[in-house]
Amino acid sequence: MNDIENLIPTFDVEDVRADFPILNRKINGMDLVYLDNAATTQKPRHVIDALTRYYEETNANVHRGVHTLSVEATDAYELAREKVAGFINAPRPETVIWTRNTSESLNLVAATWAEEHVAKGDNIVITAMEHHSNIVPWQQLATKKQAELRYIVAGKDGVLELSNISNIIDSNTKIVSMTHVSNVLGTVNPVDELTRRAHQVGAVMLIDAAQSVPHMPVDVQAMDVDFLCFSAHKMLGPTGIGVLYGKYDLLNDMSPFMFGGDMILEVTYEDAKWNDLPYKFEAGTPNIADAIATGAAVDYLNNLGMENIWRHEQELTAYALAQMSALPSLTIIGPKDPTLRGGVISFMHDSIHPHDLGTGLDQLGIAIRTGHHCAMPLVRSYDVVAAARASFYIYNSKHEIDELVNGISETEGYFA
Ligand code: PLP
Repeated sequence: MNDIENLIPTFDVEDVRADFPILNRKINGMDLVYLDNAATTQKPRHVIDALTRYYEETNANVHRGVHTLSVEATDAYELAREKVAGFINAPRPETVIWTRNTSESLNLVAATWAEEHVAKGDNIVITAMEHHSNIVPWQQLATKKQAELRYIVAGKDGVLELSNISNIIDSNTKIVSMTHVSNVLGTVNPVDELTRRAHQVGAVMLIDAAQSVPHMPVDVQAMDVDFLCFSAHKMLGPTGIGVLYGKYDLLNDMSPFMFGGDMILEVTYEDAKWNDLPYKFEAGTPNIADAIATGAAVDYLNNLGMENIWRHEQELTAYALAQMSALPSLTIIGPKDPTLRGGVISFMHDSIHPHDLGTGLDQLGIAIRTGHHCAMPLVRSYDVVAAARASFYIYNSKHEIDELVNGISETEGYFA
């Protein structure tokens, strides 16, 4: 995968684009160039149809009925879970818990496993490049438990500094919770190495895979991670649905996160017994339609092949880094080496505020993100309060990167 110059994507971007109705939209009279994929991705017809078909043909509540629609809805809902399990190579479908999003998955682990296992004097290790969703739950827990929250810092090159890792992850570490791919720097972190270190000291490893599962092959068994979290909306699926994967024994020993229907086996006026996995963590009527549509998103991604998707994005990223680096007004943050990063490029302009740059590009139909990207401490560490970010996915092309670069130059002219 290193010799990215020689890699030829085995899918045709134009064919892929034809599957995404929104890409036909004009924005301010211009063709849409959608480069805000780290925030959320667009949806192919296949996923939109899965949603519509569910509501038109199958809609019913799951796990509760003997009638045909309820049985069909239950089968489709559970089939989607099996597809997701297969996608990340989870050993059993019941180790895949449906949540609302990555944030909820992270909070679930903090509020259950960590609540029960972290005590005064223990430490929790995260990195300096986490999304707020993977900082704030740990800050809260550390305060409540009088535990220490430790950070693995990153150098200015956007790469984690691991020279003193054995002092950071030590015998008092209970959990390491870190992002696989940074949503700001694009850095692909050495999660295998850090998982081994966490396990050496008896800590569990949680991976925030919001920016990796949609873009590269992820195998939870090969990685040997204990928990892994991601959101469907960042991988062609609908909003409002996400996943927590956990090792069976860990999940089985954990207390429920929420209480209500479906998560119980038996209730008396005095007490209740919890249901088996995965239902113990899925109180109330679940997000049935969006789970099924997530299964459709997984089918779509599998059809393209995750290796191919990763290669396509590496090629786009290398091209974008080269083109954007040629603009003297831009400072790009994150690793210089494209093979160390995913398809996320954050940058600052030397004279145009990111919000103005984003607004100027929007006039040209180009959608990028501007701001702190929900990673305020990290962005501030670059002595700025905001950055611009372009992020790529399966339907993006080199032509669109040219449009971005030309758009930046055109916006410079406007502000000159
Ligand atoms: N973690 C990372 C690395 C992210 O990029 C994001 C979203 O941008 C999240 C967590 C939170 O995802 P969600 O908003 O879907 O919960």
